[in-house]
Amino acid sequence: MEYETIVGLEVHAELNTKTKIYCSCRNAFGLEVNTQICPICTGMPGTLPTLNEKVVEYAVKMGHATNCSINNVCKQDRKNYFYPDLPKAYQISQADIPLCEHGYVDIMLDGEEKRIGITRIHIEEDAGKMLHNDAFQGSLVDFNRCGVPLIEIVSEPDMRSSAEAKAYLETLKSILQYIDISDCKMEQGSIRCDVNVSVRPKGSTEFGKRVEMKNVNSFSGAMRAIDYESNRQIEALERGEEIFQETRRWDDMKGMNFVLRSKEDAQDYRYFPEPDLTTIYIPLEKVEELKKTIPELPNAKIKRYVKELGLSQTDAELIAENLPRCGLFDECVSIGGVSPKNISNWILADVSKYMNETGKDISESNLTAEKLVKIINLIEDGKISNNSGKIIFDEIMKNNADIDTVISEKGLAQISDDSALEKIVNEVLAANEKSVNDYRGGKTNALGFLVGQCMKASKGQANPAKCKELVLKYLNG
Ligand code: ADP
Ligand code: MG
Ligand code: ZN
Repeated sequence: MEYETIVGLEVHAELNTKTKIYCSCRNAFGLEVNTQICPICTGMPGTLPTLNEKVVEYAVKMGHATNCSINNVCKQDRKNYFYPDLPKAYQISQADIPLCEHGYVDIMLDGEEKRIGITRIHIEEDAGKMLHNDAFQGSLVDFNRCGVPLIEIVSEPDMRSSAEAKAYLETLKSILQYIDISDCKMEQGSIRCDVNVSVRPKGSTEFGKRVEMKNVNSFSGAMRAIDYESNRQIEALERGEEIFQETRRWDDMKGMNFVLRSKEDAQDYRYFPEPDLTTIYIPLEKVEELKKTIPELPNAKIKRYVKELGLSQTDAELIAENLPRCGLFDECVSIGGVSPKNISNWILADVSKYMNETGKDISESNLTAEKLVKIINLIEDGKISNNSGKIIFDEIMKNNADIDTVISEKGLAQISDDSALEKIVNEVLAANEKSVNDYRGGKTNALGFLVGQCMKASKGQANPAKCKELVLKYLNG
């Protein structure tokens, strides 16, 4: 029997607001444990939360960017459970009325577009962090993360493979980066996801029982977890066993998952309206105003790069997936006068190589769009060779050199001027009569030698294409 894998994802993204969701403590990662805390975020009795307006704005932006409808009147609810990293013993979240719902994102996989439904996006607070300590075989808790604002983005069970899930995660990540509401640092846990997997016989229209996996820490880990779980379920079904709705813990090192608990239901949490906070009300003008702040998103960019600027799908994706890269690309294109394809080649090769090697961002380097366009322009016009372009690029990156100065100091100007080149070609060919006769006698590989001699005579400064053209003209003339 053939099976189909069904995947739905719950993605948590930490918002990069300055302060926490219900108090004025700093929202920052990596500070001394238990220093970014106050009576509110540590749940002291008698304290009251105040909702950070920015959190609502950021979540609405994400709703707009994922084509959701916005519930401009909504509420917050308590989700009750005990865990040592949750000092209040409840998490403020949203239950029946999320801020955003009924949206979608389009993902690209192997050149094909697929639409993935977004069920809902709601705001909630993060919990603290347990630090397991082998030294005394116990755990310590850091409350700095308590009250860090999160959005939870719940997808429809629309994905059919681990590859689709990864493409979806990457799409969400680049949207979050484009609208600048999250740091998206996987290694710091600023994006985390719960993975829901079920399988069913191919052709069946009913869903199987789903298993939810926790502790998935990377996009590649999500793929491994999905493939493992889907195989586990198929093997169990083949053995005639039943699949239980349960929560399992993914162990990426072992490449396996383990039962945590049977799946809890919403009623287990005793959700009820948060009595310490009032209804959220966002004026419709504000909702519209936030919509206007959404920039051109990655998908639209990729399509435009391919359709209007003639980039390949792969190059367009590589440029668009990285915000600084596509910022530089867009700026160069708007300066204009050079081919977008050449801009893209430079950014994906030399510029990216430099950024990778130095770990620097484009904005921290000496490179500007103007300088890059100027280099490309000089090459396109045959004023310098491609190689000289690379030398100039290095000089800019290392010493913030002036382009014209590098050209004159290093003698990089290419001879493209016809009369100057003609003079060199005439002299070289007159001095190489034998090769000229060889060529005319049918030994066409003499051409390469003659062009080489002309390049040498020009000390490498002749434009090779022009040079070849003139040599051929001489030989055939
Ligand atoms: P819970 O809080 O119980 O985890 P949510 O509604 O937050 O429930 O999330 C449910 C997630 O499970 C969604 O992402 C949804 O797409 C996914 N899901 C639901 N049914 C299935 C299924 N049969 N197979 C795979 N994923 C599913
Ligand atoms: Mg869940
Ligand atoms: Zn606080």
